[in-house]
Amino acid sequence: MAKIGIIICARYKDCGGGKCFRALRERAGAFAVYPRDEEVEIVGFSTCGGCPGGNVEYVPAEFKKNGATAVHLATGLVVGYPPCPHIRRFKAFIETAYDLPVIVGTHPIPQKYMDAHAKLPFWKENGMEELAGELMKEGPGVKAAYN
Ligand code: SF4
Repeated sequence: MAKIGIIICARYKDCGGGKCFRALRERAGAFAVYPRDEEVEIVGFSTCGGCPGGNVEYVPAEFKKNGATAVHLATGLVVGYPPCPHIRRFKAFIETAYDLPVIVGTHPIPQKYMDAHAKLPFWKENGMEELAGELMKEGPGVKAAYN
């Protein structure tokens, strides 16, 4: 069984988590890394604490106490305007300090964000295609279903 902690961008702190929980159920977006027949438990859910992300230093400790096997940085960090400039550092820090693998992304990228980012420089500047590779693999039909 996989046990995951999710960190969302504090700019979306009021988000009800609908897309993330749906995607986990559907094994879509970055949750496609888990086979459908593998149980996945969410053992923690928190915001980054607000720029520059002070909670990232602490919340993985709580995830780990609950048995976390991985941390997901929510899709909002990738698709926001601008995208979070600290994703790479968050990933490196959590993987180094807590020895937990970090997967960038949760639910599929809604197609409308794909369309907007195709016209913007942010993703290219940050190497996002490679950093959020699991999200980029998703087909356009699924992305449209998450608009
Ligand atoms: S942009 Fe990054 S550091 Fe700022 S609130 Fe969002 S996740 Fe946190």
